[in-house]
Amino acid sequence: MPAAVAGPEIERLIQLLARLPGLGPRSARRAALHLIKKRELLMAPLASALQTAMDKIVICKTCGNIDTQDPCTVCIDTRRDESIIVVVADVADLWALERAHAVNGRYHVLGGTLSPLDGVGPQDLSIDALVSRAHGPEVKELILALNATVDGQTTAHYITELLHEANVKVTRLAHGVPVGGELDYLDEGTLSAAIKQRTLF
Ligand code: ZN
Repeated sequence: MPAAVAGPEIERLIQLLARLPGLGPRSARRAALHLIKKRELLMAPLASALQTAMDKIVICKTCGNIDTQDPCTVCIDTRRDESIIVVVADVADLWALERAHAVNGRYHVLGGTLSPLDGVGPQDLSIDALVSRAHGPEVKELILALNATVDGQTTAHYITELLHEANVKVTRLAHGVPVGGELDYLDEGTLSAAIKQRTLF
C-alpha cells in the first residue's frame, strides 16, 4: 500500500474507483485526477448522474433487466416480437445482444447459471418465472443465449428438460468459428463444435 499523497476524501474516491471492473489502483488514481481536473465539466455531472441513477434504478419484475422503470423499456417495446424470449445469465449479456442488434425479441435474465460447485441451484435463479413465461400462448421460441461453459450448458440442459412438454421451440446459440477468426488459432473444443454444427453452403 503506497503512502497517501492526498487527503482522505480523495483517497476514498481513488479506492472506490479502483473497485470498478477494468480499473486497477493505478488507473483509479489517473481517473480520480482526471475527474478532479475536470470538476465542472465531468465530476459534477457524473456525481449528479450517479445520484439520479441510484434513486431510480429498478429491476424489471417481468424479465429481470435493470432499468429506471418497471416493466422495463425492452418489455414495453411493442415493436419487439413477443413470440421470442432470449434467455441470458446476466444483464450484461442482454446489453451485449442489444448492442449487436442480434435479435428483436424479449429477454429473460436468469441472474446467473447453475453451478453445483459454488452452491448455485435452480432456486437461486429466475427459472420458475421463465417456465411460466414460456407457457404464455404468444411464446413460440426460447433462445438460450448462455455461456459456452460447463455451467452455461448445464443450465441450458436443465431448462430444456423443464420445458420439453411446453409448446415452445427451445434453441441455443451456435458454437463455432468467430467472425474474422482463423482456424489455426482456435482451440480444439471450438473447432470440433464448429465441425459438428456445420451448415449447408
Ligand atoms: Zn423487462
